[in-house]
Amino acid sequence: MSDAPTRLRREPPPLRRLAVLHTEPRSVRMMRVVVGGVELEGLELPEPAASVRLLIPWPGESFELPTWNGNEFLLADGRRPALRTFTPVHLDDHELTIDIVRHPGGAIADWAETALPGDPCAVSGPGRGETIDELADRYVLLGDETAIPAIEQLLRVIPASMEVDVHLEIEHPDARLVLPDHPSATVMWHPAVDTEPPGTSLRRAIASSPVTGGTRVWAAGEAASMQAIRTHLFDERATPRSHTTIRGYWKVPRS
Ligand SMILES: Cc1cc2nc3c(=O)[nH]c(=O)nc-3n(C[C@H](O)[C@H](O)[C@H](O)COP(=O)(O)OP(=O)(O)OC[C@H]3O[C@@H](n4cnc5c(N)ncnc54)[C@H](O)[C@@H]3O)c2cc1C
Repeated sequence: MSDAPTRLRREPPPLRRLAVLHTEPRSVRMMRVVVGGVELEGLELPEPAASVRLLIPWPGESFELPTWNGNEFLLADGRRPALRTFTPVHLDDHELTIDIVRHPGGAIADWAETALPGDPCAVSGPGRGETIDELADRYVLLGDETAIPAIEQLLRVIPASMEVDVHLEIEHPDARLVLPDHPSATVMWHPAVDTEPPGTSLRRAIASSPVTGGTRVWAAGEAASMQAIRTHLFDERATPRSHTTIRGYWKVPRS
């Protein structure tokens, strides 16, 4: 048996108690939820593609703030809370906008379908976002639907002089959204194929994309596909890690 002390993790920023203000579908695959409250005071989101954690009550239960046990947030009875990570889309005064992919069976995805004004929730954050590399001449942005909010923000801040190739994998043709204009961007929407693991089209897209010294790659989506993109870039193409940000946003459960 090891006597190694249990490693404690740094406590995340505190949870701010909020309430739902309103919800509206952005598409058949994306629900926009605006939450608000005075506890948003002092929250700052200086970087694009940052994150916040959203806490909701489990279905049929009353709202409870979990406590940090040195490693994770837990409810009073020891269960994990419904706490997930999202991209903060817009923060204005005491209102925070979040866009949630409508995947049936997700705790927060299902909550977003029926949330009503006044329903309690909380957010913690921010988590780090992206810094645009001024030395780059081209960006390749790859993502599934969960990455659309982050990619929209990146398109707004990548300088017009840089070329941008955007590849988005979508579960439904109507998941396409009008993305922010960028004068040097090319956007490709790839329909997901039922018989292929999520993110396969993104793996194909990067494999056939030139990645020169001036190229920076930002990618987010299902974790295994992101790992495959890392392996491809680092092991097969010797892309410097510092030229990439590749983030697993969700996981297919192990069967
Ligand atoms: C930094 C960061 C930023 C993120 N930004 C966003 C964002 O802006 N919008 C957004 O919608 N998501 C975003 N995500 C992903 C989001 O946190 C996960 O998809 C999360 O699991 C959704 O929670 P849920 O309660 O709906 O589903 P859960 O209850 O966590 O999951 C239930 C089941 O659904 C599966 N699942 C989870 N997500 C998906 C999906 N998208 N499609 C299909 N199956 C899925 C899981 O494998 C699980 O089996 C982000 C993640 C990170 C790390």
